[in-house]
Amino acid sequence: MAQLSDRMRALVQPHLASIEPYDPAFTPTRINLSANENTYPLPPTVRTAIDDALSATPLNRYPDPMSNRLRDLIAARGGHSRQQICVGNGGDELLFNFLMAFGGPGRTLLNCPPAFSEYEFFASVNQTQVERVWRDSVTFELDMPRTLEAASHANMVILTSPNNPTGNLVSAQEVEQVCEACPGMVMVDEAYIEFADLGSSVEALLPNHPNLVVLHTLSKAFGEAGVRCGYVVAAHDVIDVFAAVRQIYSVNVLTQAAAEVAMRLDVMFEPIVQQIRSERERMFAALQTLIEGLGAASGELAPAVWPSQGNFLLLRVPGAADVRTRLRDEYSILARDFSAAPGLAGCLRITVGTPQENDEVLRALSQLLKEERS
Ligand code: PMP
Repeated sequence: MAQLSDRMRALVQPHLASIEPYDPAFTPTRINLSANENTYPLPPTVRTAIDDALSATPLNRYPDPMSNRLRDLIAARGGHSRQQICVGNGGDELLFNFLMAFGGPGRTLLNCPPAFSEYEFFASVNQTQVERVWRDSVTFELDMPRTLEAASHANMVILTSPNNPTGNLVSAQEVEQVCEACPGMVMVDEAYIEFADLGSSVEALLPNHPNLVVLHTLSKAFGEAGVRCGYVVAAHDVIDVFAAVRQIYSVNVLTQAAAEVAMRLDVMFEPIVQQIRSERERMFAALQTLIEGLGAASGELAPAVWPSQGNFLLLRVPGAADVRTRLRDEYSILARDFSAAPGLAGCLRITVGTPQENDEVLRALSQLLKEERS
C-alpha cells in the first residue's frame, strides 16, 4: 500500500504520518475465499424482496439517522429493546466509533492476538495505546490469568468469538470474568456467531454486565457484505454514546432497506448457514487428511488445521506464502496469507465456500502440497 508523500507526512496529524492502511490483499479471481464472505447466492425469495424494497425506496430524502425500523427488527430477533441497539455502516464503523469514544490519548485497549487486525489499526488512528496478551501459540485459547490482570487496568478490551482468524470461541464464563475485572468497556465481536454452535453468543450476559458491548454484522451469515451493515447491542447508556459520536447519515437508505429484509426473512438463511457448517466440517476432515504425513520443512512448524466455529479454516502448510500465490495464479483461487503475521507463521485462512468451490480448493491444495513436498 502506498506510503504517504513527504508533503502529506508534514501536514497530517503526527500520529498518522506512518500509518499503514488496512490492506485486504484483494485480487480479482474466479474463486474468492479470502474475506470470509458468504459465497452462496442469496435465497431467491430474499433477493426478490430486497430488489422490491430497494426500488420502493425514495433516494431524494435523507435516511432515518438511527435506522429505527431496522433497530426494532434487530431488537425483536434478539429479545432486546430498540434503545439497546445502534446500527453502523458495517461492523467496521462501529469498531472505529468504539475506539474513538472510549479510547484516545492516555487510554489503553487490551487486545488478545492473533485477532482481527483492524482493532489495532483503529486504535492507532485514535491514538489509543494497545496492550497485548497473546493467545496460546498452539491452541489459540486466551491466557486467562494474564488477560484478567491486563483487563484490570485497561480502558477497553476486545475479544472475538469466534475469533478471526483462529476460529475458536471465547466462553461466556471467560467474558464474564473479563467484564468483572475491567473497569472500562468490553466488546465481544460476534461477527461470525451464526456459524457457531447454538448457545455460543454471550448476549445473555448483557443484563448483568453494563460494560459489555456485543458486535454483529450482516456481512457474513446474512450474505450482505456489500450492503455494509453492522450493529452493536449494549446497555442504553452505552448505546447513547454510540449514537452521539456516529456520523448522522452513515447508514444510507438502501442499506437500511436491504438490511430490514434480511432481518425480516432471517429464517431463510438458516439452511445456508447449516450447509456452511457442514461444509466446514467436511473441509476440516479433508484438510487434516491432506496434511497428514506432510513433514515440516526444517525451521518450519508442523502442518496443522484448527477446528473452527466460523465460516473459515486456519491451516498451516509448508511454503504457505508460495502456496497462496500459486493458488491465485495457477488456480484463480484467493486465500488469505497470514504467514508473515505474528503468531501465525506458515498459516493461510480459507473461507468455507460452496461445495463446488471447496472441492476445487481441495483438489488444488492436494496438487500443490504434493509438489511443495517433492
Ligand atoms: N469483526 C471481525 C472479526 C471481522 O472479521 C469483520 C470483517 N472481516 C468485521 C468485524 C467487520 O465486518 P463488516 O465491517 O463487514 O461488518
